[in-house]
Amino acid sequence: MVLGSTGIQGNSMIKRPIALKTLNQYQILNAIRIAGAISRTEISGIIGHSRATVSNITAKMIASDLIYEKKAEGSSARGRNRVMLAINPNAAYVVGVKVSAFRVGCVVCNILAEVKSSVVMPVRTSERPVQFVADLIEEAIRHCVKEAGLSLKQISGIGIGIPGHVDNREGVSYWSPLFSRDTASLRELIRKRFRIETYVDNDTNTVTLTQLWVGKGKGINNFIVVTIEDGLGMGVVIDGELYRGSSGFAGELGHFVVSRGGRPCRCGKRGCFEAYISNFGIVNGARERCLRGDWQHDPADILSYEEVLKGAEEGVAPLVETFAQAGQYLGQAIAGLAQLFNPSKVIVTGNGVRAGKLMFTPMQEAIAENTAPDILAATEVVVHQWKDTDWSLGAACLVLEEFYKSPFDRCVAAEKMQEALGKEGAK
Ligand SMILES: [Zn+2]
Repeated sequence: MVLGSTGIQGNSMIKRPIALKTLNQYQILNAIRIAGAISRTEISGIIGHSRATVSNITAKMIASDLIYEKKAEGSSARGRNRVMLAINPNAAYVVGVKVSAFRVGCVVCNILAEVKSSVVMPVRTSERPVQFVADLIEEAIRHCVKEAGLSLKQISGIGIGIPGHVDNREGVSYWSPLFSRDTASLRELIRKRFRIETYVDNDTNTVTLTQLWVGKGKGINNFIVVTIEDGLGMGVVIDGELYRGSSGFAGELGHFVVSRGGRPCRCGKRGCFEAYISNFGIVNGARERCLRGDWQHDPADILSYEEVLKGAEEGVAPLVETFAQAGQYLGQAIAGLAQLFNPSKVIVTGNGVRAGKLMFTPMQEAIAENTAPDILAATEVVVHQWKDTDWSLGAACLVLEEFYKSPFDRCVAAEKMQEALGKEGAK
């Protein structure tokens, strides 16, 4: 099955009223996915629709090879096997790509978000034209699809995560540390090259989807993901759906100013959370202390995050203090988020979690100090060990999110896309 362009161009990712039929399909597929295997009666209990409605929709799903019937394990002792429904893992495959300043990561996964192949290309993408980035993405996708033993015709959609302000309806980046806004839409460039439906979103939104689909947010309706890397990002899930805001820019925690006239930030402002908590912020903080003469590093302007972390782990006081300050700001930020959104869980992830206790002990102290007790008791804060594939897998989940909403429409659109492919010839 391949996602087609019919009816899902342009505003496909914007939050919009969902038709009842579509909502029912989505709820049923999601219930099966979260349970692994589940009976029709159990689905009916979860989504609140009659068993007849569930039977009607699941019959179509079985006919389309989206799901299949299987006998419940261990139920034969009662003389009658319960029939369970499970998702056919080979019903669809999707591609996820994460573009960051110094690498392009790509995964191919199946409809259950199980990774079939992955690749990371260490290459500088920052300050390069969007066409150059599209070339890299194309190469990564072709390699990864081949590695998975698949052909491009078997790919249902492509998801791409990039840092910065992304309008996911148009696939345009308004501001990104990678490239300035370009007349060419990254989404359209990739879509035309492969003739496969393509989605682009902010990278923290995609990593939040990873948590929602296969991570610590699976089955949880209200949670927040905070990512610490070169930037500081945030994704919010409200009532089981990723919240994007009116323009798709929601979750800009990183550029929330906390210290007027404070440390310079990459966005051009001063005193943003990101300027203290992100890996860049940590390095800049260490550099400031070095220039002030608090510790020695030669030369002061060439300093890596790894060096700063190693120094702090060895107990160099100014570096320990730099991480502690970052942790305190992070705790303040999380306390504010807990009080604003009342999530049941806050997941802190990204490669910045390597800082460990240096950052997270002060973070816990600041959370306890700044959060109302009843809200504190209702919020679990977890630090999730980062995996390299988490980002690109999230971009793949961006496609799966759309697929689950209307799988049958996608099948019809796929046939049209295949027809178009036949006439025009795939690249
Ligand atoms: Zn900023």
